[in-house]
Amino acid sequence: MQLEDSVQFLKGVGPRRGEMLEKAGLRTLEDLLFHLPFRYEDRRTITTLQAARLGGEVNVVGRIGGVREHRRQGRRGALLRALLTDESGWAELLWFHQTGYFKERLNEEALWLVHGRVEAAPRGGLQIVHPEIEAIGPGAGSAGDVRAAAAGFARVLPVYQKPGEIPIAAMRRIVTQVVEGLAASARSVLPEPVRARASLMPVAEALRYVHAPPGDADITLLAESASTAHRTLIFEELFALQIGMTLRKAERSRQVGIAMARSDERIRAYFERLPFVPTQAQRRVVNEIAADMARPQQMSRLVHGDVGSGKTVVAFAAALQAIAAGYQVAVMAPTELLAEQHFATMRPWAEADGIEIRLLTGSLRSAAAREVREAVASGHAQLVVGTHALIQQSTEFARLGLAIVDEQHRFGVLQRAAIHGGASSSGEQTVPRADTLLLSATPIPRTLSLTLYGDLDVSFLDELPAGRRPVTTRVIRTAARERLHERMAAAIREGRQCYIVYPLVEESEAMDLADATSMAEQLQAGAFREFRVGLVHGRMKAAEKDAVMRRFKAGDVHVLVATTVIEVGIDVPNATIMVVEHAERFGLAQLHQLRGRVGRGSLDSFCCLVADVGQSADSFERLRVMESTNDGFEIAEADLKLRGPGEYLGTRQSGAPAFRAANLVRDADLLTLARNEALAWLEQDPTLAKPESAELRRAIERRWSSVLGLAEVG
Ligand code: ADP
Ligand code: MG
Repeated sequence: MQLEDSVQFLKGVGPRRGEMLEKAGLRTLEDLLFHLPFRYEDRRTITTLQAARLGGEVNVVGRIGGVREHRRQGRRGALLRALLTDESGWAELLWFHQTGYFKERLNEEALWLVHGRVEAAPRGGLQIVHPEIEAIGPGAGSAGDVRAAAAGFARVLPVYQKPGEIPIAAMRRIVTQVVEGLAASARSVLPEPVRARASLMPVAEALRYVHAPPGDADITLLAESASTAHRTLIFEELFALQIGMTLRKAERSRQVGIAMARSDERIRAYFERLPFVPTQAQRRVVNEIAADMARPQQMSRLVHGDVGSGKTVVAFAAALQAIAAGYQVAVMAPTELLAEQHFATMRPWAEADGIEIRLLTGSLRSAAAREVREAVASGHAQLVVGTHALIQQSTEFARLGLAIVDEQHRFGVLQRAAIHGGASSSGEQTVPRADTLLLSATPIPRTLSLTLYGDLDVSFLDELPAGRRPVTTRVIRTAARERLHERMAAAIREGRQCYIVYPLVEESEAMDLADATSMAEQLQAGAFREFRVGLVHGRMKAAEKDAVMRRFKAGDVHVLVATTVIEVGIDVPNATIMVVEHAERFGLAQLHQLRGRVGRGSLDSFCCLVADVGQSADSFERLRVMESTNDGFEIAEADLKLRGPGEYLGTRQSGAPAFRAANLVRDADLLTLARNEALAWLEQDPTLAKPESAELRRAIERRWSSVLGLAEVG
């Protein structure tokens, strides 16, 4: 038996089960060894039927008789009934599946240990549907014998997420084989001194403990994945990942980059031309970037700031330094609309400084696009704004010195690798790489940013420009909508503009939800007939969308009905009311992004979250978080707790690491500990050359190097 062996090698796994396991991501014996139970069942206490609580789970010992199989009227399949009697009473046992199998098994004259949920039977008495049964001794004996026989079977049982139709008992037998055969040979990734300092177990012991907890295990700790065994496995995983991240960061900083001299005078002049005074945070971050760009190594820096913190101003300052040093700059946004907006914002700044700026998007006619590409290739264009296609479609730059990527949070580690030029193994040390500056739009909880961005340098833009009024937020019920529309109309008459966001583009039959398209028509004909209502959604052609957005920016459209396409980055300071319909369907972080579309000037702004009355009180309360804070980081933390990390981590394809033991929401404390230990370990063994690091090195090579785009470990 080897860790790399296919699950097909196991007893009880044929081609069919093999396929089910594989579909669930369990391909090798190692995968099974680290497939941890998602909960546990405490079968250490044997009760009697008389003492059983209705609706509760019980373990009882008794005899089974009166086994009968029935046809089920009007349905396929059969129903199996049997009678369980113990020393105190009786209950009916029922099976709707695998009836043949159980009928056969119950032929055995035995004492049975029965586990299941006790319910009131429709015709009186007790019943247990689909109990788990286990023969524990010969059929006859006194009550004392029964207890003695049962004692040997009393234990805590693991419950696994079962792939496909593999019964839980079979899944247990499958995993048990692997644990018995391989747990002993599992090597700890943690160097011994680290393991000892953190008071953790050897990994072999931890694996045995989580799959087959001993009789005296603390069930609460098991249930919360907080046993020392669980903490060991979680820590091992997080530690290796943090080592990988830090190595990647080190690899980056060894990467030969371009030293672009500081250009403080030019940046000061640019600041002075702005119609506002940059915040302290903006100055500090510009300074951090300037120092980093002046170093001869490649910069990989993330600017992490809340909505409206003014990242564009900072980005342009960085561009200035690169251009002053004689290099070109690419600014990339996730959508054409945002690219155009960045272009519009930066063009006057560029022109005031005599910089050649160009826009390159897919909707440019081919002749115009060719002209821009030529200007970029010849080096005439100094600042190019576009979508990510700028890099992905390998636009040729004469002298690219800095790549700025906006709305970075949509890109996982893997896409970043592509933007950075990845970790190509040849010529790595010799070809100077352009600096990269990533702008994240959504505040991300610290635990996640350590995981997603642990390999980057991070600058925090943690101050909103002065005079910004916090957006007042209210959660209302659908019934209050009419008054809301009156309020909007009043604002429009005063010259303001409004957004209304819907979760869907078109009417959906499956769900009774208002949608953007039909609501835009209704509102134009009804509540807002004196005004102009515009519509944008993701299924429109880019040119159509842009046309509407342009009219909205120009003030020609008063109410913009939209889907979440407007979520990121759109900047129309005259818009002061944001209404989100079916708000209960959005994550808090997403709502915060949407709310960030208003309150962008010095005018008082209002955000109204309309929740369906039919929705549970819980989801209404969840939305209330939005009323109480405007702090994106606080909201992100709340969102993470409520909805889990999926929203931030995205799919596997996005390059987010998939964990087998760790859970970033639950294990924040271990993550911090693992990170500190990882940094300390690398301090004294930076290339993982020590013998104690051998296993760690192997683990990173096997599991994380491709995810992280590490060229080589150590
Ligand atoms: P974000 O960080 O969300 O990308 P933007 O760069 O789009 O923010 O800036 C939001 C708005 O704030 C823009 O209208 C911008 O001109 C304005 N702004 C940026 N910095 C300042 C400042 N220091 N003082 C006042 N307004 C500012
Ligand atoms: Mg922005």
